Amino acid sequence: MRPQKGPEKVPNGSVVKREKVVRYKECRKNHAASIGGYAVDGCREFMAAGEEGSDDAFKCAACGCHRSFHRREVEKDDICDSSSTSSSPK
Ligand SMILES: [Zn+2]
Repeated sequence: MRPQKGPEKVPNGSVVKREKVVRYKECRKNHAASIGGYAVDGCREFMAAGEEGSDDAFKCAACGCHRSFHRREVEKDDICDSSSTSSSPK
C-alpha cells in the first residue's frame, strides 16, 4: 500500500470539473407577497435537500424553497479545495 491520498471526492457527490461553477446564494422568495408585503426567510445559501437527480435536489434544506428562488451566482473555475495538495496527479 502506498501512502496516497484517496480519490478526489466531493462531499455532495458532484464531480469537480474545470468549468464554471454555479452557486445559489441567499433566498429571495417573498413570503409576504400574498399580503402585499415583503419578507424573506433569511436563508443565506441554498443547500440541496436531496441527492442530485432527485426532486429534493432543487429544494433548499434550510428554507424549503425551490432553488430558483435563490440568487444565482456564477463562479470561475478557481476552485480552491482545501484537501488538495501541491502535488499534481497529472
Ligand atoms: Zn427560502
